[in-house]
Amino acid sequence: MELSILGKKLSTHFSACLHLIKPLENTYQSLLLAMSSCDLCGSSCQHYRQLCDHCYHDLPLFNQDIIQGDLLNWPSINKDLPKVVFDQLICLAPHCAPFDGWLHQFKYLSRFELAQLFAHLLADKLNELLMAGYMEKPQLMIAVPLHISRLQHRGYNQAHLIATKLAQRLATKYALKYEPQLVTRSKATVTQVGKTGRQRRKNLQAAFTVNNTKSLPDHVMLIDDVVTTGATASEISTLLKRHGVKHVTLVTLTLAMRR
Ligand SMILES: [Zn+2]
Repeated sequence: MELSILGKKLSTHFSACLHLIKPLENTYQSLLLAMSSCDLCGSSCQHYRQLCDHCYHDLPLFNQDIIQGDLLNWPSINKDLPKVVFDQLICLAPHCAPFDGWLHQFKYLSRFELAQLFAHLLADKLNELLMAGYMEKPQLMIAVPLHISRLQHRGYNQAHLIATKLAQRLATKYALKYEPQLVTRSKATVTQVGKTGRQRRKNLQAAFTVNNTKSLPDHVMLIDDVVTTGATASEISTLLKRHGVKHVTLVTLTLAMRR
């Protein structure tokens, strides 16, 4: 009896503390934003930690409304990606400035803090598409994996870094689970750079493994930094669909179109 009274009192005090902590947290976040400078122009930031509102509005983002939130609805993109197995493609922007520079710095100059900005931009876009009804809520999120030898050489998987930050923003709100080990790259393939779509598909055959004996959910969201021919995402989508997945949404920061 005494314990339950004590429990109730502690719970009341805890709730009161939370009410005090929340405004402090908001102030802290505002201070962090005010102290941050835009990666492109050096001005102070408002919504994004590394990007001011002026530069945000100047980004060359895809207009998702005219394609109902799916770049596969865009005829020229559909023509460029004729044999993809994933069902929906969401990319923030074409692979041009400033995204190409950011991704180069992220992948090759160890600017890992950019993962936070990429995830924030993607989370805002996904929220927008979900609210507009252009996208169904996925139940599971995975990142395109690297083979262990590539991971040891590079030291990190850029898709995983973005997915981790994205999960922090979306997981609770949408009951979305991030499972980084669900799909692994079991075959060390040679680099895809410079290969045609057909060569890429051949190179990737049986390159991935699903590490799960339980049934997978209907809708899986696959994260990568950039999509070029869609061969890697298609190979993973084929594998996921063999394990019962019905819908795969590929989400990347940029789309590197060949034409
Ligand atoms: Zn700026």
